[in-house]
Amino acid sequence: MANIVAIVGRPNVGKSTLFNRLTESRKAIVDDFSGVTRDRHYEAAEWIGKKFTAIDTGGFVHGSDDVFEEAIRQQVHIAIEEATVIIFMVDVTTGITDLDDEIADLLRRSSKPVYVVANKVDHAKLHHDSAEFYAFGLGEIFNVSAATGSGTGELLDAVVSHF
Ligand code: GDP
Ligand code: MG
Repeated sequence: MANIVAIVGRPNVGKSTLFNRLTESRKAIVDDFSGVTRDRHYEAAEWIGKKFTAIDTGGFVHGSDDVFEEAIRQQVHIAIEEATVIIFMVDVTTGITDLDDEIADLLRRSSKPVYVVANKVDHAKLHHDSAEFYAFGLGEIFNVSAATGSGTGELLDAVVSHF
């Protein structure tokens, strides 16, 4: 069974930006599923010689806020089922939202390894702001800037330690 890393989180936290960064060296599309999974992107990635499939969730959901949030919840459930490791991305510039809390509740019930990733930590002075995410009770917080790539190496080291 392939190693699968799913990136989950509410819209606009930077999931697709991280996904593009993780997969930029290998752009091959691994698979394209039907149904709800149609909204996700699967691509091959590799770090320190370890290969995995990255999933970018929550791509193209349309509808009311309720439909939208339900779709995100569904993506989290599928990620919990399918993934070897889950990256739960949040945004240090907005802090914790209700939807973040809901996603964290779902992830706490999973037995899969979950990494909380505080994105948009573009400057050193934002590092301590991410401490609020310890309130999720999901362990260590990884500070990254998906836009610059800062911190993504440490995150990937931890992620591929499961493979
Ligand atoms: P998604 O909806 O979670 O997939 O988020 P996107 O990857 O589409 O990014 C949402 C917005 O956040 C875009 O305008 C990105 O340019 C911006 N963004 C993503 N990563 C970073 C980052 O590390 N720092 C900053 N400042 N902006 C970012
Ligand atoms: Mg996206």
